Amino acid sequence: MNPFTYERASDASAAIELAKGNAAARYLGGGTNLVDLMRETVERPDMLVDVTGLPRGIEPRADGGLLIGAAATNTALAADSHVRRHYPLLARAILAGASAQIRNMATVGGNILQRTRCRYFYDNAAACNKRQPGAGCDARDGFNRYHAILGASPACVATHPSDMCVALAALDATVHLDGPTGPRSIALAELHRLPGDRPDIETELKPGELITAVELPPLPFARRSTYRKVRDRASYAFALVSVAAALDIDDGGVVRNVRLALGGVAHKPWRASAAEAALKGRPANAESFRAAAEAELAAATGLRDNAFKIELAKRTIVAVLGELTGDDA
Ligand SMILES: Cc1cc2nc3c(=O)[nH]c(=O)nc-3n(C[C@H](O)[C@H](O)[C@H](O)COP(=O)(O)OP(=O)(O)OC[C@H]3O[C@@H](n4cnc5c(N)ncnc54)[C@H](O)[C@@H]3O)c2cc1C
Repeated sequence: MNPFTYERASDASAAIELAKGNAAARYLGGGTNLVDLMRETVERPDMLVDVTGLPRGIEPRADGGLLIGAAATNTALAADSHVRRHYPLLARAILAGASAQIRNMATVGGNILQRTRCRYFYDNAAACNKRQPGAGCDARDGFNRYHAILGASPACVATHPSDMCVALAALDATVHLDGPTGPRSIALAELHRLPGDRPDIETELKPGELITAVELPPLPFARRSTYRKVRDRASYAFALVSVAAALDIDDGGVVRNVRLALGGVAHKPWRASAAEAALKGRPANAESFRAAAEAELAAATGLRDNAFKIELAKRTIVAVLGELTGDDA
């Protein structure tokens, strides 16, 4: 463990001021990911700025949306009555992740910025372009069961591990930021990057920027929504594939609107735009669901251990949409 200082910020301005100009400073949420990475010496901050004192309110907006403070815990968000009623896919996604103890500590800001669980990233003896740019990627020819099938690059096949972010991507969430150059907002779907040749640059955050809140727009049909996570164990395991979905069907049984996002398949939460486009205006039946899944996974490629995830993702999409239509085969 490297020496570091610890400061607790009372608000966003204080946090930004404390971290300003220090590339080795890190914001600390619940610490459930960052502290692990410090123990492994993958992260070596010289200063931790504790941001658990930032707003943690979960406030319905007049327009029917929701504003979530960055320091809200995962437990509080999953238990919130507005979330459970209006955005059930979000509550289910959070509850599918980690354990109750970890969710009690983990914050919304930290969950969004948690880092990949690729074992080669955690192992300082392995080659990892994300940990050390230019070093190579031992996952490509190594044990890659959990790795990406969409949007990967020769430099990196890691996946983003968050369940919560998959639901946020489906819901068109906006992330509010503040930093040395002032406040701004970015779509959750645009926040995380694909790896390209710089997998070490994981997000569009500028130096010193802080997540202050997440905002959900109103989405009445999200009342008919869910999240399904396929994993090697029934609990306490990361997704092989996950699907967040919300479905709006008209009286004639035709898909009026749909939101779909996938987890466990890419370097970022994967909004399934091709599948959504293929589904709109189509009958809400298994044939359309399969065609939409085929459209989304058309560009997928597999490695030695993870090629099965391509078919698994397709079947999970079909099963989840079937569940939402009441045709849960
Ligand atoms: C055993 C285990 C199993 C797990 N299983 C799952 C799972 O199945 N699904 C899942 O989704 N997750 C899982 N997790 C991960 C867990 O969800 C994350 O560790 C947690 O959400 C991170 O939140 P945190 O507040 O503790 O973040 P921290 O560890 O404090 O921080 C994580 C990162 O976010 C940055 N950060 C924190 N807050 C802010 C902010 N407001 N603004 C800017 N940067 C910030 C930190 O600098 C750090 O880089 C698991 C973790 C463990 C240890």
